[in-house]
Amino acid sequence: MSSKKNMNMDSKCVHAGVGEYEYGPVVPPIYQTSTFKFESTEHGASLFKGEAEGYIYTRMSNPTVEAMENSVADLEGGYKALGCGSGMAAIHTALAALLNAGDHVVASEAVYGPTATLLRTVMSKFGITTTFVDSSNVDEVRNAVKPETRVIYIETPGNPTLAITDLEAVSKIARDNNAELVVDNTFMSPVLQQPIKHGADVVVHSMTKFLNGHADVVAGIIIVKDEKTYKHFRKTLNQIGGVIDPFNSFLVHRGIKTLALRMNKHSENAIKIAEWLENHPEIKWVKYPGLKSHPQYEIGLKQHSQPGGMITFELKNGFAAGETVMNNVKFCQLAVSLGGVETLIQHPASMTHLSMGKEAREAAGITEGLVRLSVGIENVDDIISDLEEAFSKITKEETVSV
Ligand SMILES: *Cc1c(COP(=O)(O)O)cnc(C)c1O
Repeated sequence: MSSKKNMNMDSKCVHAGVGEYEYGPVVPPIYQTSTFKFESTEHGASLFKGEAEGYIYTRMSNPTVEAMENSVADLEGGYKALGCGSGMAAIHTALAALLNAGDHVVASEAVYGPTATLLRTVMSKFGITTTFVDSSNVDEVRNAVKPETRVIYIETPGNPTLAITDLEAVSKIARDNNAELVVDNTFMSPVLQQPIKHGADVVVHSMTKFLNGHADVVAGIIIVKDEKTYKHFRKTLNQIGGVIDPFNSFLVHRGIKTLALRMNKHSENAIKIAEWLENHPEIKWVKYPGLKSHPQYEIGLKQHSQPGGMITFELKNGFAAGETVMNNVKFCQLAVSLGGVETLIQHPASMTHLSMGKEAREAAGITEGLVRLSVGIENVDDIISDLEEAFSKITKEETVSV
């Protein structure tokens, strides 16, 4: 299929990365093997020297893994990709490959929690410092850059604020300062946003979320732009060892076939739900990249094709209302994670961030009535009626307590 490069995104999702295999299967077989036989000592030697094409050991490369990697690299418009055992393994590998002791990172304050912790704990042990800024304000990024800044690390839309960062503006700051722009594109997926087109040097994903899309795999990936970077990253991943296995690669690659369909449906449902929430009397505010009320709505239009499936909103009646909603939803699943076909709902103040205490939460922007919704691909009326039913319980409790 020589015309693969020119395919539209929805066709790419179905065909990208699929090669030719013995017996002509239409999907890449699962090469569930840790190691590969050499034909002779000379053959083994030529593989190790990189002169012959082929496989040696699955931590280094594997045909099933490579098929999935090629698919994601193609969707992101990158040179090649490196499959990892989790999103965190991908982020750790990328940072370890790019940074040296004494280097500095500027990161969005709205990054995934464990990413911030990785920077603050593991990376700082090795002499790497990080300044966290509100990256939706480009001046804050520019002002935080130091002579030793080597990486600008952005998540857009951010978590859980859904703040949007202007990738082109930030990539210019990175270029002017000899730093690399790394973008976590998990919330959008390459179907909706391709950061490399907007100047990113490296893209990372938790494939646990939209890319796989079925809440049954933990996996991650790094996408790079050129051969030199790829070789360096591949060596680093081989040394750190956080690789993905063939079976999970197969599952992710299968999930990607419906990625365009799913992202369309996630966005279509989320737009309707966000508009409904915005007019609901129990709601104080709604953050969704597809609402005109979103502070960076215009920047979003420049860099993503649709607003995606993630919504954050604040309940007027705070912590108690959040608990009531969590305990009364029946259709939406009460769980962390996101990006699967089923709608997930989460109230950080009473769940993931309860142990932090109210003051620390407020300082981190996690308000008492904040709810995060990962909108699934179900019928939108079913999602709305479940939320409506759960919201109606708040009103009753309020009446009782008055
Ligand atoms: C989940 C997530 C990660 C971490 O991925 P894992 O697969 O859980 O290791 C990183 N970034 C974002 C934005 C995420 O949502």
